[in-house]
Amino acid sequence: MTLGKMNASAQRILRRYTICDWCLGRQFAMQGYGLTNKDRGVALKTLLLMTATEVYHQKIKRGTTLIRRLAEKGQFEPARAFLEKEGITDTPHSQDCEICQGVTNRFHKAARAVIKSLEQWEAHSILIGTKISPTIIEAEEQLRSEFQITTGEPIKAELNREIGKLVTTNLGLTTNFENPDIVALIQIPDFHVELDVHSLFIYGRYKKLIRGIPQTRWPCRECGGRGCQRCKDTGKMYPESVEELIAPSVIELTQGSDVKFHGAGREDIDALMLGNGRPFVIEVLRPRIRSVNLDDLIMQINESTKGKIVVGNIRFANKEVVKRLKGSATSSKKVYKAIVHVETPIPQETLLALENLTMPLMIEQRTPQRVLHRRADRVRKKRVHTIGIVPLNAQNFELTISCQGGLYVKEFISGDEGRTKPSLAELLGTPAVCQQLDVIDVEIAEDTLPW
Ligand SMILES: [Zn+2]
Ligand SMILES: [Zn+2]
Repeated sequence: MTLGKMNASAQRILRRYTICDWCLGRQFAMQGYGLTNKDRGVALKTLLLMTATEVYHQKIKRGTTLIRRLAEKGQFEPARAFLEKEGITDTPHSQDCEICQGVTNRFHKAARAVIKSLEQWEAHSILIGTKISPTIIEAEEQLRSEFQITTGEPIKAELNREIGKLVTTNLGLTTNFENPDIVALIQIPDFHVELDVHSLFIYGRYKKLIRGIPQTRWPCRECGGRGCQRCKDTGKMYPESVEELIAPSVIELTQGSDVKFHGAGREDIDALMLGNGRPFVIEVLRPRIRSVNLDDLIMQINESTKGKIVVGNIRFANKEVVKRLKGSATSSKKVYKAIVHVETPIPQETLLALENLTMPLMIEQRTPQRVLHRRADRVRKKRVHTIGIVPLNAQNFELTISCQGGLYVKEFISGDEGRTKPSLAELLGTPAVCQQLDVIDVEIAEDTLPW
């Protein structure tokens, strides 16, 4: 755009609107770089004043009209100073800008409102958003179409940026567009602030050292959680869970409002979780404190659970890690140890022959009857990688099995009335049941997780 065109365009806008430096400059936001829109607005008004004083010295009346317009509709103090120097003191005082309603004069006030709302919330990164009144948006659209402005930027972009700069500088925060700790949404023009506090994610591994604890809180099947005779008004099937054993310490140290537990799969309620433990992420909702000392957290959890569970490998994580843990449930390798009971005594050679089957063994497993109430009835194909046998007596042996995540091991042993094929019962030619089951390893490549 030529200087003449830009000047003429600014001149026409000022004839029609009372407009502040920011709002005038914003119509030319694509011109130049490293400037604020206020810089642009002041530059244009300065040029217009320089041209108008030239006119004034040739044709006083015409020049006065132009300079008065700059002083009044342009809110431009140098224009007012020029008129006063010439003895013209009756220029009316400027109204609020007709586009932004004076919001750009109050950036500091907006920033203070955000800063106040952030008291009591720890954040390292933030994103400022604005919800702008339709009157302001429409005023700007009207101006753009009236003067066919194609070089502007949306007022929203300017407000987000300018208020954001003040807040981040003041509080020493960084701006994060992808994944900020907190999004502050300011209503324009009344500066009411709403905070969207993002969750804090903490990764770890848990071992479960006693049987009979589910992984997560399990609402009572009878009453759905409202409380009834069956659950003794607790609303739960089991008095405690891995989630509920970990949660209180996490909530205490982060001052969060609640937690969500995300496990990399889950073991049966009656199975122990041993070895390195099972990976999990605990998501803290609306945490007030983020820079938790993780050593303190581990210590507090492990002391409070009295040996029922033990956590370790704790570190900070993010939403992506949760996604990967969920996705890893069937791809990761799991190792189990089971005590198997067979109906008819089996010769040792027959038992030990199981170790020499061609691996991997492909298993077709239809959804077990015991989980049909919560999982779709379909056939899943799973791999068994290795089988280890330690005979205990004529009818019992210890089975160590390494397999693909998602294989139901109890049913691989029993056959689940023909729903799992092949099964140990089928391979041995006698009914077999799993008497005890423990998870001894959940393999996840931690160093490939998106930390
Ligand atoms: Zn304005
Ligand atoms: Zn109940």
